Amino acid sequence: HFTPVKRVLISVSDKTGLPELGKYLQKAGCEIISTGGTHRVLKEAGIPVTDIQSVTGNPEAFGGRMKTISFQIESALLFDREKDRDEAEALGILPIDMVVCNLYPFGSVKKEGADLPRLIENIDIGGPTMIRAAAKNYRWVTTVVDPADYRMVMENMTAHGGHTDLETRFTLMRKAFNHTADYDSLIATTMDEQAGEPTLRFAFDQPQVLRYGENSHQKGTLYRLRNAPDSLCDMEVLHGKAISYNNMFDLYGALEAVRDLKNNGCAIIKHANPCGLSEGKNQRKVFEKAWAGDPVSAFGSVIAFNTPVTLETAQFLELDAKDKSQRKFVEIVSAPGFEPSALDYLKQHKNLRIVVFDPARLQPAHDMKFIYNALLYQDADRELLDKVEYVSHKKDPVDEDLMRFGLTAVRQLKSNAICVARTCKDGDIQLLGMGCGQPNRVNATQLTLARCRENLKNEYTGDPDGLEEYIRQEMGKAVLFSDAFFPFPDNVELSHADGIRTIVQPGGSIRDKAVIEKADDLEMTLIFTGMRHFKH
Ligand code: 5GP
Repeated sequence: HFTPVKRVLISVSDKTGLPELGKYLQKAGCEIISTGGTHRVLKEAGIPVTDIQSVTGNPEAFGGRMKTISFQIESALLFDREKDRDEAEALGILPIDMVVCNLYPFGSVKKEGADLPRLIENIDIGGPTMIRAAAKNYRWVTTVVDPADYRMVMENMTAHGGHTDLETRFTLMRKAFNHTADYDSLIATTMDEQAGEPTLRFAFDQPQVLRYGENSHQKGTLYRLRNAPDSLCDMEVLHGKAISYNNMFDLYGALEAVRDLKNNGCAIIKHANPCGLSEGKNQRKVFEKAWAGDPVSAFGSVIAFNTPVTLETAQFLELDAKDKSQRKFVEIVSAPGFEPSALDYLKQHKNLRIVVFDPARLQPAHDMKFIYNALLYQDADRELLDKVEYVSHKKDPVDEDLMRFGLTAVRQLKSNAICVARTCKDGDIQLLGMGCGQPNRVNATQLTLARCRENLKNEYTGDPDGLEEYIRQEMGKAVLFSDAFFPFPDNVELSHADGIRTIVQPGGSIRDKAVIEKADDLEMTLIFTGMRHFKH
């Protein structure tokens, strides 16, 4: 299973790490064959190189279109070292044991906005041919397509007395075919774009089999988008049970909800919807305010912070409470980091998943749903609003931070979605109530208002007779947000009845006029944003 590496062909566009590799191979007693540019770099480093022409017997021709492609090179890579030995000898073909090759930089040239002729010139032909030939013959030939693998290959050779082992060659072969497949995919999709018929190709790898899917009778797997510079798969799980399918989706919702928050932000997620959300100066207080958004649903939730978690914050979960019913059980706590003492504290709960991921890393470009062998594709909803337009007579201003916060919350909620947000006395911003996933907006509004009333009742400490007045006062200071326009004035009336005085919605209904008139009748502030945020 060990094959000696004696003759190596190096032909690389990306010359990173080339002199080091060349020196190593030289020391190992290898003959290095190489093409024009690669040859020059190796020679400058003082490494003896065999010219490719002396092996092919042909000149490099047609501006480099023909360098290695030849009977000699492809035979040297491809012939079966057992079956074809005599034939190779009779034909005068000496084996090449290793190919080090990376391709013309089609991808970066494309990024630079190259025109079609320049793109075409950057389609590598000889490289993929060599790589595929070598990879096919992996039982004897080592294929190296990534400068990041040079070190590993050198170590492998050193460990085995100048040989590479079969397992490594197989791994490198898989990488090689993926490399040429990705390369051809990119060329194909680019040409489709040129023709105005864009195609989508995504490859996913590194499967992680999950315990099950959304339900226990469904299989679930998590794949990483190949070659993506960053991915949610790159999160660090510091502690706890394995992450499940539903955890993963909820965690994404939590990170999305908290990403655009300022100061310390906290999102509490159930079934991908934020049921608690808050931002402000003190992380512990923010956590408390998010939790108060829906203390019942917060149990078993997924929580994300946008700043490193302190011990004081972690202690809110009361994981060490003598009375076990006081302990707040949650599925995941995610943050860009944890104070060591906070981590120790959270680790008391052996099942709690502790995840390190900075929501600022999320830069989603794509959004898709797979529907019976068809793909519904859209780009990600990254905007919040078009412009703030006060459309009613009354124009009580809404603070910019509260506007951003409320729209962030409502954008993340499943449609139809309504939420109420407020600025608290201490300046923190809090989600006071939400209602979502409803087939009609009136129900979403009713759910939201009921939630707000309940939360205000919970926080009220005064004389019971004063409760209604307190609710009206607090609702009057809060703002109600809707993910889409109100199709009828009924929601305005409903909100008003529970004390809401300010409504933010996209507008754009054919009945906008009736809705604005209703707001004017009730002396409410109505603001249009011009941007809908459906999320199904
Ligand atoms: P160099 O800089 O050494 O002159 O060229 C290296 C590049 O040429 C590598 O990216 C390699 O994939 C590519 N290459 C090697 N042989 C051929 C060939 O026969 N035709 C074409 N078009 N490219 C080749």
